[in-house]
Amino acid sequence: MLETLEGELARGRAAFEAAATLQELEDAQVSVLGRKAPFSQLQRGLGSLDESQRREVGARVNAVRTELTASLDTRRATLQEAVEATLLQEDRIDMTLPGRRPRAGSLHPLTLVEREVIEVFTRLGFRVAEGPEIEDDWHNFQALNIPTDHPARTMKDSLFVAIPGHPELLLRTETSAVQIRTMQSQPPPVYVIAPGRVYRRETADATHLAVFHQVEGLVVDEGITFADLKGTLEAMAKELFGERRRVRLGPAYFPFVEPGAEVGVSCFKCDGVGCRVCGNGWIELLGAGMVHPQVLENCGYDPERYTGFAFGVGIERIALLRYAIPDIRMLVDGDVRFLEQFGTAS
Ligand SMILES: [Zn+2]
Repeated sequence: MLETLEGELARGRAAFEAAATLQELEDAQVSVLGRKAPFSQLQRGLGSLDESQRREVGARVNAVRTELTASLDTRRATLQEAVEATLLQEDRIDMTLPGRRPRAGSLHPLTLVEREVIEVFTRLGFRVAEGPEIEDDWHNFQALNIPTDHPARTMKDSLFVAIPGHPELLLRTETSAVQIRTMQSQPPPVYVIAPGRVYRRETADATHLAVFHQVEGLVVDEGITFADLKGTLEAMAKELFGERRRVRLGPAYFPFVEPGAEVGVSCFKCDGVGCRVCGNGWIELLGAGMVHPQVLENCGYDPERYTGFAFGVGIERIALLRYAIPDIRMLVDGDVRFLEQFGTAS
């Protein structure tokens, strides 16, 4: 029995030492110390020995079990350390690897132009006003001196909004309705610009979109004259297109102003000589005029005491000119390669 015991001790130590993984060690444990292992059978056989033998062999059995258990624990600790070391190695973050830079976006050219226009006018003391994109007939047409049968209504094919019980709602065709809402909400003086999206029933082509952007300006105060209008537009033209720009005003008809003017800016490419961009040296940029007395009256202002001017310019128009973009549809195509050219986000 003692011989078997010593044999099992040697076999156990060797088996534990040879285990290369925790699983192999577990298998070895079953084979050496498990219920069916020779060692356990021997332990169970102790009862059949006489007392003196049992004491001697029993003491050795206990000693061998202690040694085998110790050997098993040592090996287990070693294998566990190895496993943890491997895990650490796998999870290791290599701080010397180059990082992945998140792709930075850039501002859309329309946003750039709109921000610039807003900046120009806020510096001149204007405030930014906003209004809803769905308007009613009164704010979009009637208050602006465009009655139901006025030809201007057929000129701009409107997009109406089908909401039961509200037959006269439409997507605003101009930001002019914001002027009306501003005048209704406060007494003069008024110095506001209204940037925003407008909608027309247009078929998209190189120069038209059904959704586009305007900035309108409105000034109402005592003693405002046509000279103030021209001076303001000149200041804007110089800020947007360079210090040497001049403006010229030609007669034009808009129902909500009297007199009305078509405003040209001297070409920033050829300085007014004449080139491919402008043709004759002038770029027609916007419409403007003195606010019609009827419009002031519609909003509860006294046209005997107050005068004002208004203008409206297309953001897309400025963007196309500024960045020499040949087709307005490029602004809404969503082609990142095109949009990336306009600088980084700010
Ligand atoms: Zn030119």
